[in-house]
Amino acid sequence: MSSRTPIPDADPTLTIGVLGAGQLGRMLALAGVPLGYRFVFVDPSPGAPAAAVGEQIACGFTDPIGQAALLACRVVTYEFESVPVEAAEELATHVPVFPPPMALRVAQDRLFEKSCFRTLGIGTAPFEAVDSLNDLSRAVANLGLPAVLKTRRLGYDGKGQFVIERREDVALAWDAVGRAPSILEGFVRFERELSLIAVRGRDGECAFYPLVENHHKKGILRKTLAPAPALTSELQDTATAYGIRILDHLDYVGVLAIELFQIGTALLVNEIAPRVHNSGHYSIEGSRTSQFENHLRAILGLPLGDPSAVSPSCMLNLVGALPDSGAVLQIPDAHLHLYGKVPRPGRKVGHITVRGKDDAELAARVAALQALPGVCDSDS
Ligand code: AMP
Repeated sequence: MSSRTPIPDADPTLTIGVLGAGQLGRMLALAGVPLGYRFVFVDPSPGAPAAAVGEQIACGFTDPIGQAALLACRVVTYEFESVPVEAAEELATHVPVFPPPMALRVAQDRLFEKSCFRTLGIGTAPFEAVDSLNDLSRAVANLGLPAVLKTRRLGYDGKGQFVIERREDVALAWDAVGRAPSILEGFVRFERELSLIAVRGRDGECAFYPLVENHHKKGILRKTLAPAPALTSELQDTATAYGIRILDHLDYVGVLAIELFQIGTALLVNEIAPRVHNSGHYSIEGSRTSQFENHLRAILGLPLGDPSAVSPSCMLNLVGALPDSGAVLQIPDAHLHLYGKVPRPGRKVGHITVRGKDDAELAARVAALQALPGVCDSDS
C-alpha cells in the first residue's frame, strides 16, 4: 500500500489515468499536457520515468489506493501490456478503459494472438500449441526445423524463446522455456522486419502510419527507419488491410502496434502490442501527429491527427549507456529523448530521432550519430 497526496484542484474531467509509469507513459504525458490534460500513473516502482511529468501513485496495479485514483479519472489507459487483465476489466465496469481489456487478453498470450490472426485470415508463421515435451516433439515433426519455441505469456524483447536447430535439442528447448505453456513457430526466413502503427478512435475512425523498418540486436529494438526504405503502396495496403481487420475485430480504441515480417511482397504478422510502441517513437518529430498524441485523441474521443511523415527519419535507441548530450545535439535535426533512468546493460534509457531532407542526408546524419560513444552498440 502507498499513501498519496492528490494534486490540488485536479479536475477529474481533465485527468487521464495510466497503468504503468515507464517512458511510454512519460511521452504520453508530454503529448497530453499541451492539450490541457493531467496524468495519474499507477506503477509499483517509485520514481518511474513518468513521475517527472504527472502524479505517480507508487503501488501495485490492483492496490485499492491506485484503483480509487484511476476511478476518479476521465479515462484510463495503459502503457505496459503485462497489467493484470482482471484489474483492467474491473476498472472498465466503472470508467472508460481503452484499449479494451479484451485486446490486452489477446496480446498477453501468444496462442490467443496467433489464433486471432488465423481466424481473421491474416498471414502468420505456422504454429502449434505446446504444453508438454510430447507436444513439442509432435510439433517439431509437423513444422520441421529450425523452429522457434516461445512461452505463451510474459515473453518480450526476445525473452522466453529458444530457436531449435536440431532434433536433439528438443528437451533442452523445453527446459530453456521453463516447461511453461508455449507455442512452436516455424522459422521464418524474412527479408526484413517492419511494423505498422495503427490507431482507431472511439467512433471507429482509423489512421495508419507508414510502415517502418526495424533492426534488433540481442532481441532489443535498436533502430527504426521511417518510412521503411523502398516502401511500396502495395505493401502499405496489405499491412493496412490487416490492421483494419484486427482493429475492428477487437473493437479497438487507441494505438495498436503490429509487428510484421516481410518476404517479397508478402507480410506475416508476428505480434501485436496494445499500446504506443518503441517503433513509433520517431513520430514525435517525424510525423505530422505523434503516436502519443493520436493515442490520446483516440481514447478521448477527439478527431485523429494526420499520421503522415514530414521527412525521412531514423530513431536510434539508447541501450545500456548515455551518450554526451552536446555531441548528439550538434548533429543537425537530431532530437534527444532521455527517460531519467540509470543505465544498466540491456536497459532502454533514451532514444534519438534524426531527420534528413532525403535518404542521403539522413544516412550521413545517422552515421555521424552512430560514431558517437554511447550511441551505437552502447551495451556491448
Ligand atoms: P518476438 O518476441 O515474437 O517479437 O520475437 C523476437 C524476435 O525474434 C523477432 O523480432 C524476430 O527477429 C525473431 N523471431 C520471432 N519469431 C520468429 C520466427 N517465427 N522466425 C524467425 N524469427 C523470429
